[in-house]
Amino acid sequence: MTDESIIAAIATPAGQGAIAVIRVSGRGSISLADELFRPRSLEKSLSESTAYSLRYGEIYSGNEVIDEVLVSIFKAPRSYTGEDLVEISCHGSVIIQKSILNLLIQKGARLAKPGEFTLRAFINGKMDLSQAEAVADLIGSSSEASRKVAIQQMRGGFSLQIKSLREKLLNFVSLIELELDFSEEDVEFADRTQLKLLVEEIVESLEKTASSFELGNAIKNGIPVAIIGKPNVGKSTLLNVLLNEEKAIVSEIPGTTRDSIEDSIHIGDLLFRFIDTAGIRQTNEVIESMGIERTYEKVRNASIVLYMADASESSDDLLKGLTDLTQGTDIEGKVLVVVLNKLDLLNPKPDFLIIRNKLAGIHSACLDVIGISAREKEGIESLLQILIQSGNFKNLSAEDVIITNARHFEALDKSRQAAKRVLEGLDSNLPGDLLAMDIREILNYFGEITGHVTTDEILGNIFKNFCIGK
Ligand code: GDP
Repeated sequence: MTDESIIAAIATPAGQGAIAVIRVSGRGSISLADELFRPRSLEKSLSESTAYSLRYGEIYSGNEVIDEVLVSIFKAPRSYTGEDLVEISCHGSVIIQKSILNLLIQKGARLAKPGEFTLRAFINGKMDLSQAEAVADLIGSSSEASRKVAIQQMRGGFSLQIKSLREKLLNFVSLIELELDFSEEDVEFADRTQLKLLVEEIVESLEKTASSFELGNAIKNGIPVAIIGKPNVGKSTLLNVLLNEEKAIVSEIPGTTRDSIEDSIHIGDLLFRFIDTAGIRQTNEVIESMGIERTYEKVRNASIVLYMADASESSDDLLKGLTDLTQGTDIEGKVLVVVLNKLDLLNPKPDFLIIRNKLAGIHSACLDVIGISAREKEGIESLLQILIQSGNFKNLSAEDVIITNARHFEALDKSRQAAKRVLEGLDSNLPGDLLAMDIREILNYFGEITGHVTTDEILGNIFKNFCIGK
């Protein structure tokens, strides 16, 4: 995996901007940049400059000046990649960016692959693998909550937790392995009671962290919301109204288009993901029969369930529909909101308090009843407020370790299983060599998370999703 070549890439977004940044990393990158750079006053070259300084000058192609630039100089090992690194800030014309990149390549650099700067940072020990993954999450974060979780992970919150568990276990496993060297003498260096306490602590800690994945996933990919209800109650109409709300919000950001949002919506600081909404648009789902597995599947995968009904429906029918739902599938722990639609057709309006009281017995925990008119866009603001309150992660503390990555979740789960085997082994007085094998297995899964144990394939999969230039 070690690659000594000098890599270069445009690190700013494609297209024209005020300023663009071109990064160059690898041994010799500073003198390579010197071949193009002339300082404004006849001062030192970049190579002669002190590290962590900013130089003003011009980039030349032969005798032709291409642009006036600022160059930042970082020297190994104290740089992002751990190598000599140069960042050229030029004017953000596409032609200038390309010319400078081409010149660097002509002088011997090669185009960096996606995430290659961060891969080098990982290989050079500047960060572990979970921190490197958090760099991509941070760049991709599209809500305040996902930013918080990503920066916490990038700064090593999760890694520290794994590292501390790993160190404690390493201590024990080496004592147990030492016992094996003295196997004739029947000695016990590793106190089994202490080991048991430690492994119990590890299981508890792993369970707690693994259980944060549901929240982490909601933060990263959007809080899953299911809209269910009988045909024609207005599910697609509501979805379209919500998507248009989003359009209004995102239209302030140049370059954003509806296409890339699909059925995820930012409301306030939060991202909501509407589950299986393509189905809503095309089909009439029959919730009445409640045998429909697809409806249950949607509910199972959701944190918030919007049960839509026609506001003119009798409260007995409503009660029946909701009872069928709660009996058919487990909605414990989910937020259930009854959305009574087509309020515009009703005069007088129904009394929602009475309806709420009548329904309260079904799912007392988080039941809300709200009246709207999707067509007339009435009551939508209140519905948005309910969604925001239901998915409020604002009180996430900076210390909370929340995992958002399926790869970490899997490794944590496997290490938890191995830890449980160690506990069983301790209870049944398993010989040290067998105990040591299970402990080594836990350590192995920890290593997968941090990248102490990894393969080119795993690294390839992780870094291919990065931006070029990061
Ligand atoms: P779905 O089958 O649940 O997705 O229902 P649709 O969204 O396709 O709506 C069914 C019909 O109800 C359409 O003719 C909509 O225009 C109409 N509709 C939806 N929302 C409202 C509303 O708030 N008021 C009225 N009067 N009609 C509505």
